[in-house]
Amino acid sequence: MSKVLIVEDEVEIADLEKDYLELSGFEVEIEHDGMVGMERALSEEFDMYILDLMLPGVDGFEICRRIRDEKNTPILMVSAKKDDIDKIRGLGLGADDYITKPFSPSELVARVKAHLARYERLIGSREQENDIVEIRGIRIDKTARRVWINGEEKQFTTKEFDLLTFLAENPNRVFTKEELFREIWDMESIGDIATVTVHIKKIREKIEMNTNKPQYIETIWGVGYRFKL
Ligand code: CA
Repeated sequence: MSKVLIVEDEVEIADLEKDYLELSGFEVEIEHDGMVGMERALSEEFDMYILDLMLPGVDGFEICRRIRDEKNTPILMVSAKKDDIDKIRGLGLGADDYITKPFSPSELVARVKAHLARYERLIGSREQENDIVEIRGIRIDKTARRVWINGEEKQFTTKEFDLLTFLAENPNRVFTKEELFREIWDMESIGDIATVTVHIKKIREKIEMNTNKPQYIETIWGVGYRFKL
């Protein structure tokens, strides 16, 4: 159940908002004092904030600004004056919406629902994002197994991809050829550590401007390789 915090000093308005939102299935908490409301808004988890502008203690401008410094949770600002709404917009405090008193409770509910739905879609789409490794001009999409060098896509074999990704995910660490072979090729596989050298050479041909002066995968003589951070 989505949880809404209302910070509103006019008791009847706060209760009206609460009643309508509860009827629509929201869990609602009310604070009448600006300072207490701000403290709860910052210290507790809510899915949406409804802030009155003129409040005792701390005003809605300040609460909005402080919430936005820390969270992306939707904020609906409520004001008795149309002029104040223009002022909030001008200040760019990061409120998601504005409503002027008097408003119809069903209008309020509709807006709260719309913002919550939009916010949930946003969170959902972030969770589905691909797993990306990015170091300087190299972008590795681990989910799609694709690689771009300075914006240009390059083709890598399975082992080249695995080796490049492993090194890029562990930058600034030297790995011996034996370690890399064990990591990327299983022990049973045919080949030896010379395979690592061959693969490094092929990867360099695709990612380096000048393979004689590698900018990404460095050779540490007598030890192994290191992905430069
Ligand atoms: Ca007020």
